[in-house]
Amino acid sequence: MHEECGVFGVFGVENAFETVLTGLSSLQHRGQEGCGVAFTEASGTLSVSKGPGLVSRVFPEGKRHAPSCRCAIGHVRYGTSGGRETENIQPFLFSRHGCRYALAHNGNFVNAEELKGMLGKSGALFLSSSDSEIAGHMIAAEGPGRKGIDEGSVRRALNRIEGAFSLLVLTPDRLYACRDKNGFRPLSVGRLGKGFVVSSETCALRAAGAEFERDVLPGEVIEIGEDGLRSSFYSLDRRNAMCAMEYIYFARPDSDIEGINVHAFREESGKILFEESPVRADLVTGVPDSGLSAAIGFSKASGIPLETALVKNGYVGRTFIQPTQSLREAGVRMKLSAVRSVVQGKSVVVLDDSIVRGTTSRQIARMLREAGATGIHMRITSPPLRHPCFYGIDISSDTELISSRMGAEEVRRCIEVDSLAFLSEEGLLRAGRRTDLCMACFNASYPTVLYSHDPENGKV
Ligand code: SF4
Repeated sequence: MHEECGVFGVFGVENAFETVLTGLSSLQHRGQEGCGVAFTEASGTLSVSKGPGLVSRVFPEGKRHAPSCRCAIGHVRYGTSGGRETENIQPFLFSRHGCRYALAHNGNFVNAEELKGMLGKSGALFLSSSDSEIAGHMIAAEGPGRKGIDEGSVRRALNRIEGAFSLLVLTPDRLYACRDKNGFRPLSVGRLGKGFVVSSETCALRAAGAEFERDVLPGEVIEIGEDGLRSSFYSLDRRNAMCAMEYIYFARPDSDIEGINVHAFREESGKILFEESPVRADLVTGVPDSGLSAAIGFSKASGIPLETALVKNGYVGRTFIQPTQSLREAGVRMKLSAVRSVVQGKSVVVLDDSIVRGTTSRQIARMLREAGATGIHMRITSPPLRHPCFYGIDISSDTELISSRMGAEEVRRCIEVDSLAFLSEEGLLRAGRRTDLCMACFNASYPTVLYSHDPENGKV
């Protein structure tokens, strides 16, 4: 699985451009296909610089031209909507009655087709196939009279968009930080000197030298100007349905999401997994990286020693983008290897975050057996993935999900392990001391209407 994107913004800080690049580098795990920075030049003009690839490739140190500016927003992209073409790399620039503004967005809209059709009829021109561009046109469409845009136009536009968004809008004198009313994706504000920083994850705030101030709340629009912060809400119908996969897999362990540290969440889920599905074994190990914290929790709760039985080669790209099964399997072998001296003659509990196709889990099991493991017990820190995600994660079809076709026992046989258990939905909530999360890819309880994407009922 891949996250769609990460956003990072800076207002009122010297070297804003460089600060955004620092932030984007810390958010690189959220998207590696492209990145960009929009910035306010000394003249007040908004410009954008962007390209395909990692931040270090698009803006190589020592070769980049870093304009002097105090306000900028940036974006790292992994394309789920709109494909991988370079015209889909953000931020996007827009203009309304001579006022330019830039937009960077993380998430997916579920009524994108409907909004695009409506905007197209009123003359909007789309230069990309990304649904993020829709938000920019919506804000223009809601602008006041023959002026630029303001906080009211942002609020009115967002009120018509359904789905997941943590988005930043930069005008020549304002930065708007906005989160959808279900709060699917994280977004936090920090202070840096007399200025402000906004980031998809708190790990990037710290990397930029900023102090965490607060999270942007579901449905909130925070307007940042030279006079400070101003908060308003675009909807009264709000919920705390943070994407469970942010905690389980996507976010960095050193990030805090809505007050809960991601490493602590994963460690707790490992403890709860032992309570729910205990097993006897000689050692516990985690699949790097997201299984490592859970393995610590499982080991603490069970008293089974924690060992490093699997090692990751960090220089290999992610496996799932390979087009064929055999290439994906070769990709797993390049990415992970088992430590023979640790596992030989031992039964092993393996903690992993999820099972998508089953390819990686089966490869891991084979790898451990080849290295001499006598028993393999797989423990998964999420419930079975059975349904597609419409909110910015690339699980587009349930046919690719092994648990949508098979029960747990069949999956166990297919991935060739001695026992298999998944964390329950209650366990997941308990791990974060939360009462609400989006868990739609586990239970099909989607927090929004699905419009034309609804596979069961068609268009609504
Ligand atoms: S459906 Fe799953 S992946 Fe998508 S937002 Fe909800 S929890 Fe996250």
